[in-house]
Amino acid sequence: MIRKPTKEIKIGNVTIGNNNPIAIQSMTNTLTKNIPETIAQIKELQELGCEIVRVSVPDQESVNALKEIKQNINIPLVADIHFDAKLAIEAAKYADKLRINPGNIGNEEKIKQVINAAKENNIPIRIGVNLGSLEKDLEKEYGLTPKAMLESVKRQIAIFEKNDFHNIVVALKTSDIKKTIEVNRMFAKEYDYPIHLGITEAGSGFSGTIKSSIGIGTLLQDGIGDTIRVSLSAQPNEEVKVAKQILSSLKIRKFGVEITSCPTCARANLDVIQTTKELEKLTEKSKTPISIAVMGCAVNGPGEAKEADIGVVGGIDECLLYKKGEIIRKIKKEDISKVLLDEIEGR
Ligand code: SF4
Repeated sequence: MIRKPTKEIKIGNVTIGNNNPIAIQSMTNTLTKNIPETIAQIKELQELGCEIVRVSVPDQESVNALKEIKQNINIPLVADIHFDAKLAIEAAKYADKLRINPGNIGNEEKIKQVINAAKENNIPIRIGVNLGSLEKDLEKEYGLTPKAMLESVKRQIAIFEKNDFHNIVVALKTSDIKKTIEVNRMFAKEYDYPIHLGITEAGSGFSGTIKSSIGIGTLLQDGIGDTIRVSLSAQPNEEVKVAKQILSSLKIRKFGVEITSCPTCARANLDVIQTTKELEKLTEKSKTPISIAVMGCAVNGPGEAKEADIGVVGGIDECLLYKKGEIIRKIKKEDISKVLLDEIEGR
């Protein structure tokens, strides 16, 4: 996969774009003005691998909370603002990036004021265009199409560039996978601003994971995308786990423990499903870059176990433990999770 070159943009202590790692974003679902809850959720997301976090800023109390939130977290904080330029201008003092939809922030003068606030604080702005909130004239001319979205973002970028502001990230999101893929491909051909990818309103954990994996995965495989967010109607923890899995499945990034397991069948000599579930839970915060294979029997087991750093293959009475392609010993079925955990943690 060859990544499309894009401009480098700094968001707090994280640089995105060009050859920088594709960053994982998520968004809190606490009330931002509830400072302790918001900080606790961000810390949890951070531990799971979230690298940039966005919070909604719907009112003055939420703006007031930004400073304290920022002081208590270690990842960049993005303020998400709609309808109110004043909130955006004030949030620029504390946040590492603003996310606005210029279409609903007000007239050009108001957008200019937000741009000036970002300039003064040296922070980027993400321009988010969503199919659900297009300008009426564009919708009339082009319908709800990728072309209409592209024209909308072009119009908005022109305002930013006219004001000599290039510290821009763009997001073009719809809940329709094909339209999202198309508009991002069109945009990437014409601009080199970094792109934040996502399928918006993707649905529950189940359907959202599938839609996001197809949409985000297709674009990443095209070399498009500098940050990603998986939007799920689920706890944000799940979004981060899915985002990591998308990036590691495409072998774009490596995160902690990667588990390969067989689907099981009548030949299975161990409870692969339960063991895998247990291991996933126990290792979800592990930073050890290691591959594990959990295989039910000797049909495909030895092959996969040899490929992984550590593997376990079910036998009739006991299981075989593999390490770096070699069988190192037999282990009891009830000890599998403990033995693998010890191996992962180098005990
Ligand atoms: Fe079935 Fe063995 Fe294949 Fe697992 S590895 S699916 S148990 S044949």
